[in-house]
Amino acid sequence: MRIVLLGPPGAGKGTQAQRLAALIGARHIPVGEIVRSEIAAGTPLGNQIREYNDQGELVPDDLIVQLLLPIVVNERSWVLDGFPRTCGQADALDAILTETRTALDAVVALDIPDDLVIARLSGRLQSQATGRIYHTLDNPPPADDPGPFVRRADDTPEHIARRLEVYHAESEPLEAYYAERGLLRQIDATGSIDAVTAAIISALQPPASNTPARKDATGDQTAQKRASDEVT
Ligand code: AMP
Repeated sequence: MRIVLLGPPGAGKGTQAQRLAALIGARHIPVGEIVRSEIAAGTPLGNQIREYNDQGELVPDDLIVQLLLPIVVNERSWVLDGFPRTCGQADALDAILTETRTALDAVVALDIPDDLVIARLSGRLQSQATGRIYHTLDNPPPADDPGPFVRRADDTPEHIARRLEVYHAESEPLEAYYAERGLLRQIDATGSIDAVTAAIISALQPPASNTPARKDATGDQTAQKRASDEVT
């Protein structure tokens, strides 16, 4: 399956994309992480994109597409977390899919209000040992994670405000873009991690058929059973 996850920073895209990818046997493509490792590696492309990332701005479409193209083309099944973030990037993704004769299965949008985003990102901590994400108040690091625990450089109040502004201006229009194509599934992302995962899985199930279950050609499995197995 090929799935895109949309949502503002702090909506839980990374956590949910990782879980979903494991459940459906797809590759998780965490675009923000890929951007940060490219910068840390000091490659020519990394040096070009550093300044945008440091300011909480989006990396220009052509550079982000250059970074992701090989990964998206070489994997058959993926969950894209953080791409596309502009309609230009969505057009570029469409072109890649057309060229590789593949298509998106669904686009999942995680909905969460700005005040909750600010509360989540202001307390976010990442373990340098395990990469796990915690929160100073809601989900403090457990004793078995040695840390150290660091805040992301772009999780300051000014950067959070700017990233939200960029999200509303550049990325939110993608919901209409994919709704028009019949791909959008909107999910309330304010609940617990497990509740959001369950809502995503349920939204990805094919619509129940009104016709009674039929035996398929092999006679041992119904068409409805096959359809429900696609996601779980
Ligand atoms: P994230 O970890 O998803 O919040 O992304 C961190 C930063 O990486 C963003 O603030 C952007 O600078 C950059 N970035 C990630 N994904 C994209 C994208 N699809 N388009 C442009 N810039 C991106």
